[in-house]
Amino acid sequence: MFKVTRIPAFKDNYIWLLRKGATATVVDPGDARPVLDVLEREGLSLSAILITHHHADHQGGVAGLLAQHSAEVFGPAAESIAGISKPLRGGDTVSIAPCDIEFQVIAVPGHTLGHIAYYGSGCLFCGDTLFAGGCGRLFEGTAAQMADSLARLAALPDDTAVYCAHEYTQANLRFALAVEPGNRRLQSRFEEVAATLARGGGYAAIDDCHREGEQSLSALWRTGSGGFSPQQSACGAR
Ligand SMILES: [Zn+2]
Repeated sequence: MFKVTRIPAFKDNYIWLLRKGATATVVDPGDARPVLDVLEREGLSLSAILITHHHADHQGGVAGLLAQHSAEVFGPAAESIAGISKPLRGGDTVSIAPCDIEFQVIAVPGHTLGHIAYYGSGCLFCGDTLFAGGCGRLFEGTAAQMADSLARLAALPDDTAVYCAHEYTQANLRFALAVEPGNRRLQSRFEEVAATLARGGGYAAIDDCHREGEQSLSALWRTGSGGFSPQQSACGAR
């Protein structure tokens, strides 16, 4: 099993690094520099790059990484992204033996039309489709497409660990509270996240989520009567 660590990038991006032994795979490297720094510091060789969608803050670092590492580059076949060597569609599988990675590819159109997510070993790398407290903004797809994509993610096991690509937790919870101001659980979660951010800077909130199990699908997902739907709770925020 690989170990997952985060590499902060830009203002609020997460680049996820999956390592086994001295070999690494990165997910959505929008910037090469912070990834190269970690690889060098930890003595890791880069085996593969996984891309979820075409936005520059998710794939802008591919060329810089390939200049120094000969890695396979997996990404959505339906989007134009330079450097992809292994184009993927929903239903495909990804095997990266050196990192012990076996992922299913899930098509999740909405944020962009060709957006894909990677699921395996109890982990979901969902790019800009699902965040702590919300979902991605609709740049290319329709609300109906996003709802279908989120339903596909909701069908995964409840204990799935979700690795999203931005720290939007506080803004998403603020929006959710605007929709449902009397929700005490939301209120207390918002206060916890605000306190964590005040203590630890902009990248602390999602670590708390993982540590407390709040980043699992069962905690992220609320649908049905009496609650706010994913569209209501999230899509308006980002
Ligand atoms: Zn994006």
